[in-house]
Amino acid sequence: MSLNPARVAREFPSRYRLEAARCSGCGRVAFPARLVCPHCRGTQHSPVTLRPEGKVVTFTVIHVPPAEFKGQSPYVLAVVELAGGVRITCQVADVDPLAVHADMSVRLEFRRVQEDGEAGIIAYGHKAVPA
Ligand SMILES: [Zn+2]
Repeated sequence: MSLNPARVAREFPSRYRLEAARCSGCGRVAFPARLVCPHCRGTQHSPVTLRPEGKVVTFTVIHVPPAEFKGQSPYVLAVVELAGGVRITCQVADVDPLAVHADMSVRLEFRRVQEDGEAGIIAYGHKAVPA
């Protein structure tokens, strides 16, 4: 999957600040924020800023990565649940892959996640580190 530079630039500020939206209809929190709630189709939202602490729900160790992540393997890709129930998929960094476990406490940090060789685009995103 390649990155759309315009989309990356547009979403960067809100992603960086962990700005999400709580649906006024069903109360669910969407991150990144959406114009239409994916659960109830509601269009009224209030902004919420997510706290960067969470827990590993499940994870896998990637030994054969896609081209953009070449040179990073083996690395851990995890589903992390933040307070409020928002789940995001991200790498777990600064840890031996063998030490990662379900329910592990982590903290999100904004880091470089991949380098696109052809376009020279460096994409940033969240990585989880042990808390
Ligand atoms: Zn909703």
